[in-house]
Amino acid sequence: MQLKNCPRCGKLFSSSGRGLCSQCLQEDARDYDLVRTYLRKNPGANMVEVNRETGVELGKIEEFIRQGRLLSYSKLQVACEICGEPITGGRLCDDCRRGFRSEESEPEKPGVKGRVHLERRRGGGLS
Ligand SMILES: [Zn+2]
Ligand SMILES: [Zn+2]
Repeated sequence: MQLKNCPRCGKLFSSSGRGLCSQCLQEDARDYDLVRTYLRKNPGANMVEVNRETGVELGKIEEFIRQGRLLSYSKLQVACEICGEPITGGRLCDDCRRGFRSEESEPEKPGVKGRVHLERRRGGGLS
């Protein structure tokens, strides 16, 4: 057993292999239950509806989807973290997972100076 900071609430807790403190785990289980129960009755619901009807944060619902825990209840999708393609679980779409897009490295970003200059010009043009 070692002491760790809970990644969700930041509280120090003794980690026994699970990622969250017992309070957050409990909250997670309760939220998951709410979402699952709702999706069982409304398998066609989208994330916004689930959020509205269950009160569970969108971020959490997304986490459940990424973990694949809702796959058997719905076809909810989340966005690939690299290209934004809709996926039904995990963090990346098939293409990104295989590294197909890794060659597209980001182009050099212009310095802060250049960006400030640009914004000023755009603002001036509007007024
Ligand atoms: Zn916690
Ligand atoms: Zn992708």
